[in-house]
Amino acid sequence: MPEGPSIVILKEEVQQFTGKKIVEVSGNSSIDIQRLKDKTIREFKTWGKHFLICFDDFTVKIHMLMFGTYRVNERKETKPRLSMVFSDGEINFYTCSIKILEGDINTYYNWSQDVMNVNWNPLNANRSLNEIPNEMICDAILDQNIFAGVGNIIKNEVLYRCRIHPESLVGKIPFEDLNAIITECSIYSFEFLYWKKKYELKKHWEAYTKKECLRCNLPMIRKHTGRRNRRSFFCTNCQKLHL
Ligand SMILES: [Zn+2]
Repeated sequence: MPEGPSIVILKEEVQQFTGKKIVEVSGNSSIDIQRLKDKTIREFKTWGKHFLICFDDFTVKIHMLMFGTYRVNERKETKPRLSMVFSDGEINFYTCSIKILEGDINTYYNWSQDVMNVNWNPLNANRSLNEIPNEMICDAILDQNIFAGVGNIIKNEVLYRCRIHPESLVGKIPFEDLNAIITECSIYSFEFLYWKKKYELKKHWEAYTKKECLRCNLPMIRKHTGRRNRRSFFCTNCQKLHL
């Protein structure tokens, strides 16, 4: 599943269509996509893993799910879920979820929860974490209402950087370490964006899919952790378990 930074890349790739009118629309989405015909795109936004196409009085929300893809100014063999054609180009989305949000988009989203948004607020994240002391940090970090945009790669890399065992309980992690985790979720997302654009993201992974700890030269543990049961990669020697 694409993480927040990949959706930011999508937003950057389609900027040429801001302020442009959709002249033709098609696709196998179950929503009334004909409504988009002759409408002008006011803005593209992202909130975590959601891609938002904003019109005057409604917004199309696209979620890539597990296998969603898109093409800008080109097409795949398969039928698109949504295809928007402009006078000078097109955007096509495949195997994704599409919904329409009526009215003002700001009433649907809290932008301060998005680790890549200019309104990202680490203090809010801190407050939210204080409310779930018994949750494992590996689950809390994937909570989109606290860290919108953070996915499983970012989770593993941040916990490795901060030397925290993924099964640590939020309420038992020292204050400074918790703050470091919150800060790194945003910092790492921007590094992810930078590396991904240069097609060298994997080269920079230090924990995700790794077999050996770079710091200790000991085997990394791989285990499905927490109630979300997502893959974690960690070193029990240098990542402290707080229980
Ligand atoms: Zn280690």
